[in-house]
Amino acid sequence: MTKRMAGNNRFLKEFNQTVILDMIRVHKAISRAELSKLTGLSPTAAGVIVNELLEMGYITESGIGESKGGRRPVLIELRPGSLYSIGIDMDVNYISLVLMDSTSRIIEEKMLAMPRTLIFEKVMKVIQHEVKNTINKYYLDTDRLLGIGFSVPGMVDSRECKVIFAPNMGWENVDIKQHFTELPDIKVYVENEAMASAIGENWIGCCQEISNFVCVNIKSGVGSGIFINGKPYRGANGITGEIGHMVVDPNGLKCRCGNYGCLETKTSSSYMVEQAKKLVKEGIASKLNDIEDIEEITAKSIIDSAKAGDEAARNILLDAARFLGLAISNIVNILNPQKIVLGKEFINYSDIVLDHLKEIVMLKALRQSSKDIEITESMLGERASALGSAIIPLKVFFGK
Ligand SMILES: [Zn+2]
Repeated sequence: MTKRMAGNNRFLKEFNQTVILDMIRVHKAISRAELSKLTGLSPTAAGVIVNELLEMGYITESGIGESKGGRRPVLIELRPGSLYSIGIDMDVNYISLVLMDSTSRIIEEKMLAMPRTLIFEKVMKVIQHEVKNTINKYYLDTDRLLGIGFSVPGMVDSRECKVIFAPNMGWENVDIKQHFTELPDIKVYVENEAMASAIGENWIGCCQEISNFVCVNIKSGVGSGIFINGKPYRGANGITGEIGHMVVDPNGLKCRCGNYGCLETKTSSSYMVEQAKKLVKEGIASKLNDIEDIEEITAKSIIDSAKAGDEAARNILLDAARFLGLAISNIVNILNPQKIVLGKEFINYSDIVLDHLKEIVMLKALRQSSKDIEITESMLGERASALGSAIIPLKVFFGK
């Protein structure tokens, strides 16, 4: 056999293994006969691949299925705990780590404080230390670790594993792969945090059956992850979904990007905190005045006050939601998505503002683009990006 033919055969074998594995994942439990039927492989070829995967320990025989005439078939499913992935979500205040197996089962989930200085090298040291701890804690064989996904609040070059610009972190042109030295053989993936959320929603969240959707994350910054025809939309240079820098008020405040009146200056939690401080300074009647040190006002204090019936705090949230609604109506007009998923900090106050936001979208977007739109809060909550970043290596493994 020539070298090239051997290479082709190996490729074909791996390709067929991936197809079979993904079929098992999608169906949860499936027989050899069904796998043969669905993949178009002969029963013998499918049987050989199943046996190889059983031998590798990636799958397991889980029980007996219904008979379709004749003997009842043995069902096969992914073997829990046979392969792993790790997801890391980074933000100004925290680092979130998720350990997941190939069945998308969450084995460990933890939150760490982000080093205050946000110095990139220091952050990477903290993360590597925590990854090693997690690997040791569960006695993981690194040969079974499919990869580590990083979710970053900023523009990334996912092909080169680099952060191009993350203004809130103060990072520019930093190389995650190069600084992840502890486990040099482990595959590293880098993704924008909102896109990581979208990947999470598509794999295990509320967009599993949906091909066209946008996840909008609202917290210290605002970003979005766009899926078109079932795939992440990355544009020409990989920089898409920067909804936070959509100009909604040309006469507005200066944004961190250098422009004026970006959505971030109207709807991010940092902006809401600034608004609250301003109100307190102006002496507006509000429970926020009870906070002794004005610098102690956080997004949480605004949300708590609003929930306790404070009108001024409630108006800050509603006002921010109004601008968010305007920006979303533009997205609806341009992309005509089936669903908009709102996540991160937003889920903590969506009960107060979601109806108002929907009204704005219905009022401002074209009737034809918005008539079937569903606008909802994230089901994965604030964990969506961490889960999504752990899912990236799984997606690659399953050939997605
Ligand atoms: Zn901006």
